[in-house]
Amino acid sequence: MIDFRGLAQKYDTPLYIYDFNHITQQYEKLKKAFSARKSLISYAVKANSNLSVISHLAQQGSGADCVSIGEVKRALMAGVPKYKIIFSGVGKRDDEIEEALKSDILLLNLESEAEMERVEQIARKLDMQARISIRVNPNIDPKTHPYISTGLHENKFGVDIETAKRMYIHANHSDYLDPIGIHFHIGSQLTELDPIREASMIVADLVRSLAAINIEIKFFDVGGGLGIVYDNETTIDPYEYAQAILATLYGLDMTVICEPGRFLVGNAGYFLTRVLYEKVNEGKRFIIVDGAMNDLLRPSLYNAYHKVEVVGKENGGSEADVVGPVCESGDFFAKKRLLPPTEHDDLIVVHSTGAYGFVMASNYNTRPRPAEIAIVEGKDRCIRQRETLDDLIRLEKMCL
Ligand SMILES: *Cc1c(COP(=O)(O)O)cnc(C)c1O
Repeated sequence: MIDFRGLAQKYDTPLYIYDFNHITQQYEKLKKAFSARKSLISYAVKANSNLSVISHLAQQGSGADCVSIGEVKRALMAGVPKYKIIFSGVGKRDDEIEEALKSDILLLNLESEAEMERVEQIARKLDMQARISIRVNPNIDPKTHPYISTGLHENKFGVDIETAKRMYIHANHSDYLDPIGIHFHIGSQLTELDPIREASMIVADLVRSLAAINIEIKFFDVGGGLGIVYDNETTIDPYEYAQAILATLYGLDMTVICEPGRFLVGNAGYFLTRVLYEKVNEGKRFIIVDGAMNDLLRPSLYNAYHKVEVVGKENGGSEADVVGPVCESGDFFAKKRLLPPTEHDDLIVVHSTGAYGFVMASNYNTRPRPAEIAIVEGKDRCIRQRETLDDLIRLEKMCL
């Protein structure tokens, strides 16, 4: 059990707390699920890019899936070997492409023909061969939230099968491109296996048809997206997930890459906030806390569900909304939950906040971002200090 009271006293609130032991367990579960093949688990850094989180995963053997050169640099800084780093993303700047090529990472994952042209030109300028993979959009509905579904043609991600084929043929002929991988990622918080199985089959078929024209692809990157339990969802079993994918790879000798973010860190995280006071408006009960949407955006952005608990009290009582102090009606963590009466300084813990929590935090309302704490082998370590007002205004100038 995590000593939330002790941590609140020591580090103040609002506060992010990550149980590193949970991260290790999740990593091991997935790695083991793929043990029938060569595999690389490449942590999707965008889910939680704290250097200590990346470094903890790197120590387990994880690679890094990055969506900006900044994330690539974080991964290198945190000790991820360059040959386990992937640079993905639908729009990369020239300078990002150039730096990525110079840092000799495993591969750049491309999402359009235009991007391939840019990468080829930059590789020519540097007189090197760029290792690439191509993100294929298999046009599969992942049956998840529309904001986090990415595998349909109406989304901006990837290229269709025919375009992908053309791109591989071009890349295979180019002196400056080395097409070593293929990639798909159909969405996030996936809780059904069938869409993944279908997507994997479509992409594996493409790999086989490329092999038939002597284009050999080594890395089969199945993206991330494995869902976790926030409320009472049934999620995908990692072993069944791996089996479903591996079953589509008959006749192919490939290394499987998997890029989970949420699955590794989501349920390792707790967001701790303090009750300021309660109020009742026309019979509607609000618990106002010191954390806000700027600290944890998922409820406001996706109407996402997070379990909340008052520390040391049983859930139950009367219906209440848990809201922050920011001047937006969308500033809430939980709605219509049965919660016990609370008092000033009671603590509320918001569960499952390790992924897409701190990384989406902002300084809206001139609110310093929370501190982040890791629990490692029973000990708490501060892995990011709380921001101060000075941090927030450091880059501003009064020029009038
Ligand atoms: C966001 C993203 C991931 C990770 O998604 P999760 O749902 O956190 O597992 C993996 N790959 C790509 C390309 C992504 O954009």
